[in-house]
Amino acid sequence: GQKVVLITGCSSGIGLRIAVMLAEDEKQRYHVIATMRDLKRKDNLVKAAGDLYSKTLFVAELDVCSDESVKQCIDSIKDRHIDILISNAGIGLVGPVESIPMDEMNNVFETNFYGSVRLIKEVMPDMKNRRAGRIIVISSVMGLQGVAFNEVYAASKFALEGFCEGLAAQLLSFNVTLSMLEPGPVHTEFELKMIQGMKEKEWPSVDPDTVNYFRNFYLPGAVDIFEILGQTPDHIAKRTMSVIEASNPHFHNLTNPLYSPILALKYADETGCLSVQAFYCMLFTLRPLMNVGMPVLKYLTFGFMRKWRISPN
Ligand code: NAD
Repeated sequence: GQKVVLITGCSSGIGLRIAVMLAEDEKQRYHVIATMRDLKRKDNLVKAAGDLYSKTLFVAELDVCSDESVKQCIDSIKDRHIDILISNAGIGLVGPVESIPMDEMNNVFETNFYGSVRLIKEVMPDMKNRRAGRIIVISSVMGLQGVAFNEVYAASKFALEGFCEGLAAQLLSFNVTLSMLEPGPVHTEFELKMIQGMKEKEWPSVDPDTVNYFRNFYLPGAVDIFEILGQTPDHIAKRTMSVIEASNPHFHNLTNPLYSPILALKYADETGCLSVQAFYCMLFTLRPLMNVGMPVLKYLTFGFMRKWRISPN
């Protein structure tokens, strides 16, 4: 029979593409329940699904920040049976930490961390009972590597990685697999929401040096990085599909191979100095050379890796 897949945050971006790609499966192997917080925003998804809407793709309301909404949505599914759970909903947050109100930080944790936890907690017991199921969590490269001016976002994804690493081991004895996807930059509304508007924003409570670093070093660098390294939601959806179809899915799934050397720095040097220094250089030293910056960084990284005798795989 068909596998029931539930995905969160499907009104745009990665979630939308994953939902449509699974619904388009030639053998119609998937019954896709594409959920979103606000059903008024379903038009793009419905349009992208075309004929498949109400055939292999169904839309339902689910707000990952609400216990009630999550429970209601799962209860509305026949026998609460979900074969594949994809936790995708998430929000970004950039800017100098000094300027971010605590409620905004809370909101990021409430969505990115507790949102996934709430969802998994509701679905996992049924999977354990059936001794079958697959959970895929859309994390981020920033769940494995902190990045300046993204501290709170990275922290929320680190929290998720820690939570899931523990759970993955526990779930193996129930024949339930848990996999993380760690994309680098992806061209979605996420990028627009984060970068646009930041340029004109005033930062009265932040010292001028920090504002200067953020505005004139970090922001243009982030724009370049999206341009040079950005992947499409389609790419992430294909990768998700391959995790779903793998007989032994990996726990970590970095979608962008250019990040492997950067992450390798962390494991090559247990003092952590190498990665902190590399990021410092990337932000402040290599910034004026950004067009050549990434290749230079790659070159340096591979140099370190040779020195430390490690390989990215
Ligand atoms: P996006 O903004 O297009 O999609 C995120 C979706 O989550 C939106 O549809 C939004 O409405 C939804 N959402 C937010 N709060 C919600 C809530 N309380 N309940 C239900 N849905 C909610 O951006 P995206 O890039 O498609 O992001 C999807 C995931 O990918 C996120 O978890 C994000 O952290 C992760 N990610 C994105 C990038 C990137 O560069 N775009 C990189 C790495 C990881």
